[in-house]
Amino acid sequence: MGERDGMASDDRARSWRRQMPDRPATGRLLAALLACGVAAACSANSPGTSATPAPTGSFGAAAVTSAPGPSPSVTRIGSATAAPAWLGTRALPVGSNGFAAARDTPPELRHRSIITTDDLPPPADGRFHSTVQAVPASVLARSTWSKACPVKATDLRYVTVGFRGFDGLAHTGELLVNARAAAGLVKVFATLFAQGYPIERMRVTSAAGLNAPPTGDDNTTDAYACRPVRGSKIWSQHAYGLAVDVNPFLNPYHRGKVVLPELATSYLDRGDLRPGMIRPRGPVVKAFAAIGWKWGGDYHSLKDYMHFSANGG
Ligand SMILES: [Zn+2]
Repeated sequence: MGERDGMASDDRARSWRRQMPDRPATGRLLAALLACGVAAACSANSPGTSATPAPTGSFGAAAVTSAPGPSPSVTRIGSATAAPAWLGTRALPVGSNGFAAARDTPPELRHRSIITTDDLPPPADGRFHSTVQAVPASVLARSTWSKACPVKATDLRYVTVGFRGFDGLAHTGELLVNARAAAGLVKVFATLFAQGYPIERMRVTSAAGLNAPPTGDDNTTDAYACRPVRGSKIWSQHAYGLAVDVNPFLNPYHRGKVVLPELATSYLDRGDLRPGMIRPRGPVVKAFAAIGWKWGGDYHSLKDYMHFSANGG
């Protein structure tokens, strides 16, 4: 049983780390529309001039906005649409193998392009910014970390980075990562921002999310998750903060009959290229390769298209 097998089991954890999604922040979306005049102008923003990562200090790192609820009036920004009302609400029955069964992708998600929910204040200037700091106590408390985890909290960093949503707007995401990976990952996300690669949402995995029943429709980019392989003492690379999952719904895990997220089966068709999908030798793979990280889409015994890690495990 190598790391890769461990990772396979590890990503089974994805099925139980769903979070009930917040709804888009109404005020933010309306403000964006007003500021841009027309939605098309927003989605046409060029990310090309703002690739240099620089700490902003413009918002509290531990601050998380409260989402006031869905806005019935904002159903589209550029090519992105509001999330289906049922997203994140339909728990799937888990079988004896510990997984929920793979299912057909609902029509609404076959070309998934959803307006981003802002968990952190978006950059006022629409450019890429980043912060790296010790993990604030409030963040640690809502994360999956505990003293039983294989890294000390002091060896983790709380990182915020800009990302481009499917709505074409600049957003701020958060990650918990290993201290030795923080600078490199900032470079990766600066590159992805500059290239306009869309990310739906990026948020620290919560303990509640980790243990929630699967809904099979999550698409949150994340890094740290303290989870051992079940029945094994092998820890996931995520438990060290040395792995990142990118747009998991668009880049699912696939081994035999197991597909995670369970509703993402449409995205097993890698030839039907849709926005946010990670391509072999494509820009996302290259951005991670530039810091020496390897892609789970290159595995042979399984495919883990969302997964990047420092050691390939
Ligand atoms: Zn992963």
